[in-house]
Amino acid sequence: METKGIPSNFIKNIVIEDLESGKVSQIVTRFPPEPNGYLHIGHAKSICLNFELADEFKGLTNLRFDDTNPVKEDTEYVESIKADVAWLGFEWDGLFFASDYFEEMYNRAVVLIKKGLAYVDDQTAEQIRETRGTLTEPGKESPSRSRSVEENLDLFARMRAGEFKDGERVLRAKIDMGSPNINMRDPVIYRVVHAHHHNTGDTWCIYPMYAFAHPLEDAIEGVTHSICTLEFEDQRPFYDWVIRECEMPNVPRQYEFARLNLTNTVMSKRKLKLLVDEQAVDGWDDPRMPTISGLRRRGYTPEAIRAFAREIGVAKSNSTVDARMLDHFIREDLKLKALRTMGVLNPLKVVITNYPEGQTELLEAENNSENPEMGSRQISFSREIYIERDDFMENPPNKYFRLFPGNEVRLKHAYFIKCHDFIKDAEGNVVELHCTYDPETKSGSGFTGRKVKGTIHWVDASSAVPAEFRLYEPLILDNEGEDGASFLENLNPNSLEIVQGFVEDNMKTAQPHDKFQFFRHGYFNVDPKYTTPEKLVFNLIVSLKSSFEI
Ligand code: ATP
Ligand code: MG
Repeated sequence: METKGIPSNFIKNIVIEDLESGKVSQIVTRFPPEPNGYLHIGHAKSICLNFELADEFKGLTNLRFDDTNPVKEDTEYVESIKADVAWLGFEWDGLFFASDYFEEMYNRAVVLIKKGLAYVDDQTAEQIRETRGTLTEPGKESPSRSRSVEENLDLFARMRAGEFKDGERVLRAKIDMGSPNINMRDPVIYRVVHAHHHNTGDTWCIYPMYAFAHPLEDAIEGVTHSICTLEFEDQRPFYDWVIRECEMPNVPRQYEFARLNLTNTVMSKRKLKLLVDEQAVDGWDDPRMPTISGLRRRGYTPEAIRAFAREIGVAKSNSTVDARMLDHFIREDLKLKALRTMGVLNPLKVVITNYPEGQTELLEAENNSENPEMGSRQISFSREIYIERDDFMENPPNKYFRLFPGNEVRLKHAYFIKCHDFIKDAEGNVVELHCTYDPETKSGSGFTGRKVKGTIHWVDASSAVPAEFRLYEPLILDNEGEDGASFLENLNPNSLEIVQGFVEDNMKTAQPHDKFQFFRHGYFNVDPKYTTPEKLVFNLIVSLKSSFEI
């Protein structure tokens, strides 16, 4: 069997073996998010793995909402998850909700009761926790454990009928209170929750626990390879027990892989929701968030995210990936695609004193120096331009090759200019430069006279378009607080800086999500939330260079 496609990994090898041995004739995978928040880049790893495996081996992948906890779930999350998976470029074969199977799950629980493998427990949640035992001590059996099948059937039906308050009764699997695996010590499989469910409304007041529901969902859908993260490894014996004892006709197998952790961010929906609720960020799609919607608004592409997921691979042990690795892939993706243009983020006016007043000329500028197929555009040039404030110094240090009194530089796509004077305001800040230009040095004219060491960017003041630039740094200063409750105290106070500048006039037609490389600054995305017909807002995706190499 051919093994090209996604890079080899232990799960792919299992799939190949299962197909070759005939254990399965077609693989079925699933991506099973709980709709209690927006998806993040960690989910993208799981999405890519499940969908790409199925694509490569002509299998199927379901998108299934694991909605067994009514209190935390919401249709807003369902819609955002669908949009994110589709945006990443994947098409699900089946779209399912765990809540569609509530009746079947109930019936399977009844099967367990009839076999003497489940019982209704009167103990409180606290008593159940206290009698569960520890890694070194066995648990204690509940007084309810010896209830008759008839009594259990009756009580379970009454739980469903709404006779009990939240927490008053639970249904537990009857396995082994002395098992070395704590997950096998009579886990709770149903609980009473009087809450409105986003999908089933008020039909139910009992809900299956995740550990019981998940294997049933997989089996009902005919999933063959149920791929989850490592923390579920200890749940696997119970997963297999449920499938076997509930007499499910399809037998899925669970495989665990290492979850993605990234530096300088948090990656759990619970923590991300806290950032949103505390208004530490501008919603789930804040460009600093590691959510898929945040990455999209920042300007990352599906191609870059998928290439990243491929590179980090699928392993059996947890590790933390440097967030700068993702940046590498967006640079690679945009390098030949993005129009290279000029934007001035911190403007300083320059008057070219020997350029005729009232004259404007159009200069030819290539759109991407590494991709001639992108053609060229015309940019206007006149007597007044803006340059970057830090491209001028009154008293420059050694090896400063940009503008200072008496020095000459090249204006990208235009002429050489030389500084001969400047004006300061009352506080001593330089507010205007006076330069002369040399008409002989026009870019593309073949001028071979003297050389200059610095090339700087600029925009024509008479036609430049005002623009806002939003510059980002990592949201979290370091990862020390990641596991504590205190990560909110580790927020980087400089994670967002907003500056007002100018871009070339031909950017007027830029649309939300258009991506550009601003010469010497980096890659930017037109922000879809704050851009208006009157004002362009650009999000910094990533700077041009990084110290990080893969
Ligand atoms: P969170 O803690 O962020 O809520 P979760 O695991 O509870 O994550 P689910 O909605 O249950 O979120 O996740 C759906 C799928 O995504 C699961 O199969 C889960 O294993 C996978 N997943 C979640 N986080 C990561 C991650 N950081 N890396 C890889 N896979 C992940
Ligand atoms: Mg979860």
